[in-house]
Amino acid sequence: MILPGQTIGIIGGGQLGRMMGLAAKEAGFRIAVLDPTNDSPCGQIADIEIIAPYDDEQALAELREVSDVITFEFENIDYEGLKQLSEQAYVPQGAELVRITQNRMYEKAAIRAAGAPVAPYITADTYKELVDKIDGLGFPCIVKTAFGGYDGKGQVKLESKEQLEEAQSLFEHSSCIAEAFVPFEKEISVIIQRNPAGQSFCLPIAENIHRHHILHESIVPARVEDSVLQRAEREAVKIASYLGLVGTLAVEMFVLENGSIVINELAPRPHNSGHYSIEACNISQFHQHIRAVCGWPLREPKLWESTIMVNVLGEHVEPLNQHIANYPDWSVHLYGKAEAKEKRKMGHVTIMTNDLEETLQEIEQSGIWED
Ligand code: AMP
Repeated sequence: MILPGQTIGIIGGGQLGRMMGLAAKEAGFRIAVLDPTNDSPCGQIADIEIIAPYDDEQALAELREVSDVITFEFENIDYEGLKQLSEQAYVPQGAELVRITQNRMYEKAAIRAAGAPVAPYITADTYKELVDKIDGLGFPCIVKTAFGGYDGKGQVKLESKEQLEEAQSLFEHSSCIAEAFVPFEKEISVIIQRNPAGQSFCLPIAENIHRHHILHESIVPARVEDSVLQRAEREAVKIASYLGLVGTLAVEMFVLENGSIVINELAPRPHNSGHYSIEACNISQFHQHIRAVCGWPLREPKLWESTIMVNVLGEHVEPLNQHIANYPDWSVHLYGKAEAKEKRKMGHVTIMTNDLEETLQEIEQSGIWED
């Protein structure tokens, strides 16, 4: 077990690193962070800040030197670098999960191999291959870069063969997959966390509302039937067991009208849709993540009350500041990012409530989150 007083190294200095770090510091751990930018959200709260590119060998050696255990807050780390690091330092999550989740081709294949459902899909290394194979999939479909896409970037929805050329530029960056468009009714996410001894728990399941492909709201518990919640949890457990998870895995899913589930994608780290757990659960995703990577026994999560989390993007910061005094029940989190660029995740607000619909209206009527 890694104990208070020892140092947790975090690769990535964004908000996820910051919230992991804050959770760890409560218990008396020391935090070291590696991030290329000065004054990063996690750098601000860390004991040791290493400012260098993620593949800088000297910086990685320094991180190894000062850390008793190393974790990461995002999946687009160089896999070879992480693999090497895991051979030289204690990285309980390993590198394999990152290899799989940073490439949609590997990710889809792994979900299938775990026995969980994915949308029908094809893979293509070149645009020509896509053109040759597309009849086997049909329309509407979504073409996504295999590598490097997030928040709807690197993907194109195609309604018919005439639009196929719109996907051509995606191949400049990476191979692609094309997957059938899923006519889902709801999007939900299951965050599952597991320690090296194999003990695992899921957080209460969130229903996610996106705007412009970016998470806008998470509503917990998700407004779906109990049988759907149970099915979703079973699928997440299957995937986590197949992957030999240590740490945190967020499993994003589509729920169809008939209650069936299709897995969309995986993230091997704490997830935006789990931020609500800081206030609304007896253990947050960040505390549980730290327990898992430090080899502590995990706590079974319980939800205190129904909750809504709303993201605060760059354009919402000013209006939030203007109206904040009217909402003493809102828990406000801002991540310490200097520049409030449009669409940049700057913070979030968590609201516990005994009336989800009324609170959704209150959020809408606040005027902070105009479209
Ligand atoms: P992703 O980057 O894969 O998470 O996709 C971003 C968003 O696009 C998802 O949250 C969905 O709202 C939508 N989306 C992605 N894939 C599909 C699909 N196969 N069918 C329908 N909507 C999709």
